Amino acid sequence: MMVVIDAVRFDVLSPKQIRHLSVCEITTDELYEDNRPKLNGLRDPRLGVSSRLGRCASCNQTWSQCSGHFGHYEMPHPVYNIGWIPEVLQWLRRSCRYCGHVSATVLTKKCPSCKKPCPKYMKANAVTLRITEHDAPTRDLLAPEAHQYLEQIPQENVHIFRGHKDDFHPSSLVMTVLPIPPNCVRPSPTIDGDEVRGEDDLTRRLLYILRVAKGYAKVQNEASVIREHAMRRTQDAVHMYIDQKRMSSKQVANQKSIASRLRGKTGRLRGTLMGKRSNFTARTVITGDSMLDMREVGVPQHVADTLTIVENVNRLNYKQLRELVRTQDKTIKYVIRPDGTRLDMRTIKGRTEQLKQGWSVERTMRNGDPVLFNRQPSLHRMSIMCHRARIMPVGKTFRLNLSCTTPYNADFVSSFLFCYFEPEMNDN
Ligand SMILES: [Zn+2]
Ligand SMILES: [Zn+2]
Repeated sequence: MMVVIDAVRFDVLSPKQIRHLSVCEITTDELYEDNRPKLNGLRDPRLGVSSRLGRCASCNQTWSQCSGHFGHYEMPHPVYNIGWIPEVLQWLRRSCRYCGHVSATVLTKKCPSCKKPCPKYMKANAVTLRITEHDAPTRDLLAPEAHQYLEQIPQENVHIFRGHKDDFHPSSLVMTVLPIPPNCVRPSPTIDGDEVRGEDDLTRRLLYILRVAKGYAKVQNEASVIREHAMRRTQDAVHMYIDQKRMSSKQVANQKSIASRLRGKTGRLRGTLMGKRSNFTARTVITGDSMLDMREVGVPQHVADTLTIVENVNRLNYKQLRELVRTQDKTIKYVIRPDGTRLDMRTIKGRTEQLKQGWSVERTMRNGDPVLFNRQPSLHRMSIMCHRARIMPVGKTFRLNLSCTTPYNADFVSSFLFCYFEPEMNDN
């Protein structure tokens, strides 16, 4: 089945959607029972395969096919998501907690709709919001209260304020249900493929949330001070799971959190998604060379001997290529037959004189070949331009005419350039 994607939308999952996506509810903080993953625990087999052996309990596929399934955990009370605290603050400031009126500007004194006084909301630090009511002292605004205020806002008011109709409601910004990532997102550490009974940092963080939440359930009937203390503990546990770095406390920071997997040079975005290297390229330092033509780029001999392209044998280049193959020229590395078989020039001495049109050869770079030349950061289209290769027997740097320094913003102090070797359909 072919799937055509015509749009991608980023949104906040509502508690209803989280429950709908979930394959099981996590209800216990025990991981294993009789040496097997416990059902409804954080290692529930329905969350996907956790080792190379066995099949997924949800989709019956193997390790390489199943991409895992989310579970969910019902929080004993609403908690902030550290990443959405600024948005929560915005919604609180623009809405009335009595009538659910949403204003385009921050409400400072009275609600224009019900004339009731509006409290002042502030951000104390990255993880704490504070509230000042007209004649009461400033106090911390915990997530359950913020959630209660946001829930007052009718869905129509949200539609009018945002200018389009969808399922988003600001109360989803405060979490009541925690999505539990699939097993394969947090695999047990292994030694030579054998599973060892240790747990991934994320599993340990989640386990801590479950245990602290259990502690909160125990103090339900105690005094409000004790309940509030337990509530702050669950909130902190969730913050530590999502983003440890932004917390001001001096908690152990050697365990990873979700944000630390994404952030930084080695994180998912910069390290895994953007950091792709590709074949048929070379990378080295650049230096200037005033003897080169502006359209040329000097390529070190070593690079020219390594990079290859596939050149189709046609009416125009047949004679030349046949001659190269016949003389066992070093620039031809492989001869490729129309059926795809590759003949290595090093092993087939003298057997390829029947080179025909319609075949192709894999040859190395030679003078005049068009190459794409790029210097990062690629900020505009002139950061990648086409040049003619000029093979330089001496030196190991890419060389360019000094007139080309401006478009590449090259300074010859610490420049690197990529040289992409691209085939050309030419009549030579
Ligand atoms: Zn599965
Ligand atoms: Zn109001």
